[in-house]
Amino acid sequence: MKPLSTRTLNIAASLTVAIDTLAKQMIADGKDVVSLGAGEPDFPTPEPIRVAACKAIDEGKTRYTAPVGIMEVRKAVAKKLKDENGLDYKPEQIIMTSGAKHAVFNSLAALVNPGDEVIVPAPYWVTYPELVKWLGGVPVIVQATKEAKFKITAEQLRAAITDKTKAVLLNNPCNPTGAVYTKEELGDLAKVIVEKDIYCISDEVYEYFVYDTEFTSAAAFPGMAERTIVINGFSKSHCMTGWRIGYNAAPADIAKIIGKIQGQATHHPSNVAQYAALGALEMDKSNVEAMQAAFLKRRNYMLKRTAEILPVPAHAPEGAFYLFAPVTCFYGKKTPEGKVIGGSVELCEYLLQSQGLAIVPGAAFGDDTCVRFSYAASDETLEKACDRFIAGLKALV
Ligand code: GLU
Repeated sequence: MKPLSTRTLNIAASLTVAIDTLAKQMIADGKDVVSLGAGEPDFPTPEPIRVAACKAIDEGKTRYTAPVGIMEVRKAVAKKLKDENGLDYKPEQIIMTSGAKHAVFNSLAALVNPGDEVIVPAPYWVTYPELVKWLGGVPVIVQATKEAKFKITAEQLRAAITDKTKAVLLNNPCNPTGAVYTKEELGDLAKVIVEKDIYCISDEVYEYFVYDTEFTSAAAFPGMAERTIVINGFSKSHCMTGWRIGYNAAPADIAKIIGKIQGQATHHPSNVAQYAALGALEMDKSNVEAMQAAFLKRRNYMLKRTAEILPVPAHAPEGAFYLFAPVTCFYGKKTPEGKVIGGSVELCEYLLQSQGLAIVPGAAFGDDTCVRFSYAASDETLEKACDRFIAGLKALV
């Protein structure tokens, strides 16, 4: 047989997705597994959204839409961006996508030529470097340290930019660290982005989940709207992970190209899911506010419980719903079976096998010193997960 696509063979599978799939399969097989693997809110999709979707089905909104999505929904997204983020987009600049991940793909597909460099601050969401590679680009990783609250500085960004740099891919609030850039910090990055004339892809899917700080969109700074592709979605904010619905907001010329990409690749995201998204946009924010309050409580619980076993406490996330916990002091120790824990992958494998705890190794996010917990899970689940984490680590010798 002839070889398969080298470009595809050369990218890694998503470890967040793999762990989530494995944990769900183990649970379906009757195994006692607690999963804090994927960032998937445990709350149900709010009723007004479900009602909007059922109504769409009953009204026969079950046929093809335009590749870029339904105008009514795009108008509602443009209004949201104006009202909540102070951004001026025409509905024509909004493209509905099959989730935020698809919007990341669209953004890179619109910008990247083979050999182009895309700056990706680390720790990064697993998908970013792989999609850059898949499209023939070169991910340039800029490390943000725990000491710097997992944020890169304008100087670091400037130093990473070369003649080949096409874009920087920001994730604010950040998965997996929960870092949130202040307005001032983001403004400093924006100045470099504008001065160096590169694009910015800004994944803002966790915008509503910020604690003791404020969220600002990267597109809000002078000179940024014309070079920024904003990414957002409803999976996290409205507990709609399985609906696969998100969007790109882009400069007009880029929006057109993304429309062309979708017209050839997927045609459009689900018609029904688009109407469900409209239901989400038309809802009041009480649901989101209740989730914010629950996640803040859960974040504090996770910090407290993990501190029982971690000599170096985890960074207190300012946003999103992940805890990125430092675990290097357990490297080199042995499991009761005599296996040496060499890094975050072995530690997570051990915790899954011995404790039935599914969490994600930091190595998947470009930082082998930590493991990632999603705390978008019920209080009972978090309690069990922490008990198992502590028991597993205590059993290492
Ligand atoms: N974004 C979530 C996570 O990081 C869901 C899984 C994925 O698509 O990576 O866990």
